[in-house]
Amino acid sequence: MTPVRVDTLNYEFNKATAPAVTVKSGTFLTFVTSDCFSGQVTRENYKTVFGGAGFDWDNMNPTAGPVAVEGAKPGDVLRVEILDITLTRDFGAMSSGKGIGANKEFFDELIARTVDFKNNMAVFSPDIKVPLNPMIGVIGTAPAGEPKKNGWPGEHGGNMDCKMIKEGAIVYLPVQVEGGLLSMGDVHAVQGDGEVGGSGAECPAEILVKVELLKDCKWPTPFVENDTHFMPIASRDDLDEAVDVACKNAVDFLMGEYGMDRYDAITLLSLAADARICQIVDPLMTARVDIPKKLVRFLKK
Ligand code: CA
Ligand code: CA
Repeated sequence: MTPVRVDTLNYEFNKATAPAVTVKSGTFLTFVTSDCFSGQVTRENYKTVFGGAGFDWDNMNPTAGPVAVEGAKPGDVLRVEILDITLTRDFGAMSSGKGIGANKEFFDELIARTVDFKNNMAVFSPDIKVPLNPMIGVIGTAPAGEPKKNGWPGEHGGNMDCKMIKEGAIVYLPVQVEGGLLSMGDVHAVQGDGEVGGSGAECPAEILVKVELLKDCKWPTPFVENDTHFMPIASRDDLDEAVDVACKNAVDFLMGEYGMDRYDAITLLSLAADARICQIVDPLMTARVDIPKKLVRFLKK
């Protein structure tokens, strides 16, 4: 079956945004995304693009969507399986320096740069090449309350910049309004944990997913799963709090899914799970807890 193409761009998660398309659970979709700069940073202009007037800061982090899923009601969960991320440009755009990311106070200006992609590597310099590892920076559903700009992460998902959200991963997101209203964008060809300088190798892409509606899923959201790990994600004002909430969600998951008690769950996490940073550069900080699946493979559900 040909995937449904979604190429309408938006700049916030908003329950009032009309769906680009309404689909049944189980539909394959291709989200056609721009980069986080809406394509404004190019190989030709990167030295001057932030210098003067003309850069449009209002249209950052466009997402393709939203997609409504038939029958999705508040309290349900959307299961989004990432089947493929195809980069549709041969370079990544980046920004770092004054005002963004770690060490922002040590820089005099905000600069842009580009990195070419060659042989599946990002060419940082003639001697330094970084393997591409495409991931989705922004993926989420519409909140029940006020709209969330695409730059924000939160309970709805959003700008989590989690490098584990890539091909082969399954993302679980809350349904807070009728249809759920799923959107995504802000693909990075590669990004480190933390996204410390403020950007990954920002790149437009086509993202192939399968979306399914779960009626009785009690898993905490947002939540990511891959072949080897369960990964609850949380975003809060600071990292301490984000890690604390991600741990609580990990404990709730182990209690709910495997019947562990709270002491056992936190002790097991302490022994063998990894608390990790997704990003430190957005309006809230995002952390996750990586729970190895092999820990629980013999436990009864
Ligand atoms: Ca981002
Ligand atoms: Ca980005």
